[in-house]
Amino acid sequence: MGCYDSFYGMVECPHCGAVNEIEFQTKELGQSMMSWSEGDPFVTSKLAMKFGTVSVYGGCNGEQCNEWQIKRDGYVSGFGRKIFADAVIEKGVFVGMTNVRKEE
Ligand SMILES: [Zn+2]
Repeated sequence: MGCYDSFYGMVECPHCGAVNEIEFQTKELGQSMMSWSEGDPFVTSKLAMKFGTVSVYGGCNGEQCNEWQIKRDGYVSGFGRKIFADAVIEKGVFVGMTNVRKEE
């Protein structure tokens, strides 16, 4: 199992429109199993970013997205239907997700 870092953000699923707090993951930050919620200071052991974005991906387990998974895979994964987004860092704080988009 790979390691990653997590951002928790409220987003509207681009597939089904469900609004949920979703755990988004990234392997770009050193994979130290850190996690941030909206409003948390963004500091890692390797990086202190004041302004910028981090590419992340998460999954939706909304009803329609689960049905989509059942059609495609025959079952529902715990991860959900994949969503891509950018975690926004402003003034050293994780402020939320932008550019939420469908699987590519
Ligand atoms: Zn969805």
